[in-house]
Amino acid sequence: MTESPRPLNDDELKEWQARLKEANRYNIFCHCRHCGEEWVDSFTDAPCKSCGSRDVEYIACWQFPDG
Ligand SMILES: [Zn+2]
Repeated sequence: MTESPRPLNDDELKEWQARLKEANRYNIFCHCRHCGEEWVDSFTDAPCKSCGSRDVEYIACWQFPDG
């Protein structure tokens, strides 16, 4: 990262939020607590693809630490 920090203007802020939303929309890591199934989905209220359970943990992929 070589960009110097500066406040975002309104347009930049909107773009940034849109990108986050976009990333979030298609990168929800889902983990079924019932059967252990794991998959990536585009929204956070999907039932388990394997067993249909709603006891599913949702983690937005961009929330994972980079290491
Ligand atoms: Zn399941």
